[in-house]
Amino acid sequence: MILCGKCEFSFEPAGVPGGLCPRCLLLGVHNSRATGLATEPVAELAEDELAEDELAEELPGFELVESLGRGGMGAVWKATERVLNRHVAIKLLHNVRKDMDFVERFAREARVMAQLSHPNIVTLFSFGRTRSNHCYLVMEMVEGADLGSLLARGPLEVHDALKITQEVCGALRYAHDAGFMHRDIKPGNVLIDRRGRIKIADFGLARLTDDIETASITRHGTAVGTPHYIAPEQARGDGAEDHRADIYSVGVMLYQMLTGELPRGVFRPPSEKRKVDKRLDKVVFRALQESPEERYQCLDELVADLQKVRENVDPGMQAEQKVTRRRQRFEMALAIAVSLVLGIVIADYVRGWLQSPPKASAAKERPLPDGGVVASEPVRLPPAAGLSIAREIRLQPPGLTTGSLFGRSLAANGSWIAVGAPDDASQNPSDVGCVYLYYRRDSASGWALHQVLSNPHPGTGSRFGYDVALDGTRLVVGSPRRSASPKGVGSVDLFELPAPGGRWRPVSPPLPAWPTAALGLEVMVSGRRVLAFEPQGKGPGKERAPSVLFTLPAGANAWVQDPIPFGLACCAFTGAGEMIGSMAGPPETLPPSLRGAPLFAGSPGGMDLPASARSVRPPDSASELPADFRAIAATGDAVLAGNANWQHATGVAWMLRRDAGGGFVQDAVLRPPADAGPGEFAGSVALLSDWAVIGAGSFAADGPRRGAVFIYERRRSGSWEPVLTIPADPAGGAMDFGRSIGLTPEFVAAGAPGSGGPGSTGEEAGTGAVFVFEFATPLRGPATAVSRHR
Ligand code: ADP
Ligand code: MG
Repeated sequence: MILCGKCEFSFEPAGVPGGLCPRCLLLGVHNSRATGLATEPVAELAEDELAEDELAEELPGFELVESLGRGGMGAVWKATERVLNRHVAIKLLHNVRKDMDFVERFAREARVMAQLSHPNIVTLFSFGRTRSNHCYLVMEMVEGADLGSLLARGPLEVHDALKITQEVCGALRYAHDAGFMHRDIKPGNVLIDRRGRIKIADFGLARLTDDIETASITRHGTAVGTPHYIAPEQARGDGAEDHRADIYSVGVMLYQMLTGELPRGVFRPPSEKRKVDKRLDKVVFRALQESPEERYQCLDELVADLQKVRENVDPGMQAEQKVTRRRQRFEMALAIAVSLVLGIVIADYVRGWLQSPPKASAAKERPLPDGGVVASEPVRLPPAAGLSIAREIRLQPPGLTTGSLFGRSLAANGSWIAVGAPDDASQNPSDVGCVYLYYRRDSASGWALHQVLSNPHPGTGSRFGYDVALDGTRLVVGSPRRSASPKGVGSVDLFELPAPGGRWRPVSPPLPAWPTAALGLEVMVSGRRVLAFEPQGKGPGKERAPSVLFTLPAGANAWVQDPIPFGLACCAFTGAGEMIGSMAGPPETLPPSLRGAPLFAGSPGGMDLPASARSVRPPDSASELPADFRAIAATGDAVLAGNANWQHATGVAWMLRRDAGGGFVQDAVLRPPADAGPGEFAGSVALLSDWAVIGAGSFAADGPRRGAVFIYERRRSGSWEPVLTIPADPAGGAMDFGRSIGLTPEFVAAGAPGSGGPGSTGEEAGTGAVFVFEFATPLRGPATAVSRHR
């Protein structure tokens, strides 16, 4: 932090665009609105507006500190909330005192807005109305400047413009995922705090603007906001706009940040106005398409395109960045000297900003149009008997940082692959973890990144995406607490895809209180039933916690909670919703009828386990291995249980067949093929009819220990034979390949969360990657496959 010489405001210069004091900017010390680039029309004191002394009287809980500004919708005050002794920003809307209908709708909107919780969105604390029926909002006070006052000085540095746009997109994406539009994205609503963090203000408020306008503002002859940022379909005012209207507004802001001008009429591309990467022209034009159909359809696409520019800047821009970085370093040094504080912590986002781009892909690879999807041709694997791989695709979204662990978890069905990146700090600095959803319409159209989900519980420090499970258009995400984050709690979230081509949305009500922080280490979903458990001894405090089945009945808005009385080691749902599991814990905690039974089958409603459980003994040759089930896959009539031995980097998998009585008999024991190197064999498994896929993740830097994936086929004789070994791709630097697996008739996908790490240093090293192997002809068998991993 440094102190501003003019106003004694402390701020981090490296974070603030332009390196100037944000407060002085806000107050106009550096600002010359005289540059002719007026940002927002400033309203006169409206007729209905309360003067300061009246307002103070009507808001006795607050002490007014200063006026922050006045926009089209109302006046904003900095105030101290007396009871909590904290600074807040109060926005007092111009509204007609007698319009009770408006007051009601305002309250409704505010309640909805208060649900948004994201580090880049101004938090709404409360709302109310004064005695004279003026509606007000109490929100988080952002000490800093708004983007409008920065832009009043002219265009921004290119990298600042891109960074701001990406952060704005991140916040909007969160809101869009939750079903909200902003409707009034413009520089005046993009606040920048003293550490350079972006906070979007006025979420959803624009919906009320029309009323305010008709009721009050027009009478005073002032405009509501400014029309320049509004998408054409929104300007028509027929209410037909959707989230793509926000994307248009982002495009206007990006153009303005790059060129210092608004894109009015027939405007010239940014690269003709200034030395910027030509690809930015395309980004701007695509965001500013008149028709929403021709625009970016989702923010992820826009972010991915910006990321490409950021990673691969042209020489002019590199030079520009170097100068800026040199300046930033100088300012950081200055900051240290001035503040006399040693050991300054540089904000995460600055680190992310200065981070070198991820490794370029190998030459044989051809990038597909969508971000983070790379197809390699020709395929490196020779065709095997009965199985040949037509295409190998690597999924690795741009912008991953070390420790992202993209591919730690994975779930796949016919058209979707969900990939968890539980430690991904790059997308959302204060809330680790993201889940990436890739979509494939058909075999010809290839994979595209459809959506990135971030943690709906910001601030919990949870590893969002540590485990994921898919059932049709339902996705459950497990986010166990980070052991280093004592405040955090684990969580389990259910997402649904409401319509084909739409966006996945969180549908979970808050979880009931549950006594384990590691809730979410393992999750499974079957319909609206979610199983969450903590494998024995895996919790941060090694505490053993019971498992729990949460059910969200249709139409209900609270989970029904169904504890399972003993610990689970691992578990799977069959396509029919039956649970197949292995128990953990001391024998005395297990139901007597199940003691000694390595596996059980349970009916989905209550846990009617004893009746249906059967004991399955390990074959003699495998009995020397400790029973350490780490993965189970189950179809209607078969179970594949992975018995991985991590100490000796080997393992076996049991194939079980359902017998006439509903229990299980042993069908086969699958072992690593003779030439397989060491690895955690059967740490992940997948099963589809006559095909079994077994992952053997491993972290060693050299040779086969980078992990491998093995495919087995059931022959007519009934024996299971290995048909294809997929080694970790040495060219792609894959590491821990096979940690997670998804299998459908069309493809097998395998996560390699250690990939891209600096060496063999273990779990935290990787950025991660996922490899998809599309079969030349689809596998026979039903379309449902269930795979588990740990
Ligand atoms: P606008 O129409 O420009 O969005 P507003 O009435 O929303 O006008 O706000 C006026 C100004 O008050 C903003 O441009 C911003 O500088 C300041 N402001 C608004 N909300 C906050 C906040 N939560 N914290 C700090 N300043 C704020
Ligand atoms: Mg505003």
